[in-house]
Amino acid sequence: MRSSNHDHRRIVVKVGTSVLTGGTRNLSLPHMVELVRQCAELHYQGHEVIICTSGAVAVGRARLGFPDLPATVANKQMLAAVGQSRLMLTWERFFEIYSIHVGQILLTYGDVESRHRFLNAQDTLNTLLEHRIIPVINENDAVATDEIKIGDNDNLSALVAVLANADLLIMLTDQPGLFTADPRENPDAQLIHEVDVIDENLLALAGGSRSGLGVGGMTTKLQAAAVARRAGVDAVIAAGTELDVLTRIVGGEMVGTHFAALETPPENRKRWILAGVTHTGYLVVDKGAARALSRRGSSLLPAGILAVHGSFDRGDTVSILSENNGEIARGIIRYTSEDLRQIKGCHSDNIAERLGYTYGAVAVHRNDMIVL
Ligand code: GLU
Repeated sequence: MRSSNHDHRRIVVKVGTSVLTGGTRNLSLPHMVELVRQCAELHYQGHEVIICTSGAVAVGRARLGFPDLPATVANKQMLAAVGQSRLMLTWERFFEIYSIHVGQILLTYGDVESRHRFLNAQDTLNTLLEHRIIPVINENDAVATDEIKIGDNDNLSALVAVLANADLLIMLTDQPGLFTADPRENPDAQLIHEVDVIDENLLALAGGSRSGLGVGGMTTKLQAAAVARRAGVDAVIAAGTELDVLTRIVGGEMVGTHFAALETPPENRKRWILAGVTHTGYLVVDKGAARALSRRGSSLLPAGILAVHGSFDRGDTVSILSENNGEIARGIIRYTSEDLRQIKGCHSDNIAERLGYTYGAVAVHRNDMIVL
C-alpha cells in the first residue's frame, strides 16, 4: 500500500453475510473453506488474524427452515441465537483442518464503553493472539438492545481493529470495491483503487448501496475505513470471491479499494475514544465550530452546539456532527445531555448563570477528542 509505513502483522478480516452465503440463503461452505485456507496461510506466515464474522441471523433462519416470522426484535434475536452457534461451529471445524484453534468473542458497544471494559476486552483479544488462537468475533445480536447495538459488522470490524491495535482491516464483500458510479447502472463505472479523502462526495457515491442479506453497505464500510485509518490502521474493501484475495492483499497487491492509515496508531486512551462512541449521544455543531475542530484542533464550546440528541452522562463518549450530519469528531463530554440542552448556543461565561453550576468553559476538551 502506497503510504503505509508499517508491516501488516495484525490483520482483521471482516466477512460479510453476502460473502459467507455466496448470495444464497445458506452458508456457502466452499467459500468459507477457501477463506479459512487463506487465513491459515497467513497464520503460518506469522501474521495474527482476527475474523469478524456476520451471518448469525441468516444462518439461524436457514437452520430453522426459513420460518415465516414477524420481523420483531425478539424473533431476530432468536434467529441470531440459533445461527451464532452454528456459524461458530462451522468456522471451528474448518480451522481444525489446519490445526488452528479459534475463540469466540461476542461484543456490543456496552463492552467497550467504559475504559475498564475496553481494557478488559483488549486483554482477552491479546491473550488469544499470544496463544496463536484466532478470535472469531460477531456482535452479540441475541441480547444487544438498541442503546448498545453497533448495528452493522463494518463498524464492528473497525472497532475491533481499534481495540486490537491492528495494522490492517480487510472488509470482504460481494463487490470488488468502491466504484466511481454504480456499476450495475453505469457501464463506465471504474473501480477506485485508492482513496485519499473520505468526504461527502465519496459518501454520496456510496449512497444507499447495500448487499443482499447483510445490514451494511458501502456507506458503513466508508465509516469503518474512516475510523480505522484514524486509528493508524490501513483498510481495504475487496470481493470475497476474488482468487487468493487475502494473501494477495497482505502480499502488497492493489486488489480492491485501499485506504492508507492517516497516522501512526494513537495512544490507547485515544483509541478508546474512537471505539467507544455511544450510539445514542450526538451533538450537531455550527460551521464555525466544525471548522475550529477540524482545522485548528480547538476544544468544543457550548456556543457552537446547535442541537443535542439522545441522553448521556458526563464522561460518556459522544459523536460530533456537522450541520449536514457528517461525523467530524468523537470525544468525551463534560456535561450531561440535559445540561447541554440548556447551555447550547450559550457563551461559556454564562454557563454558571444558566445551570447554577459549571464544569468549565468547554463541552469537549481537545485532549479528549479525536477529529475524523
Ligand atoms: N451481526 C449480524 C449477524 O451476524 C450481521 C450484521 C451485518 O450484516 O453487518 O447476523
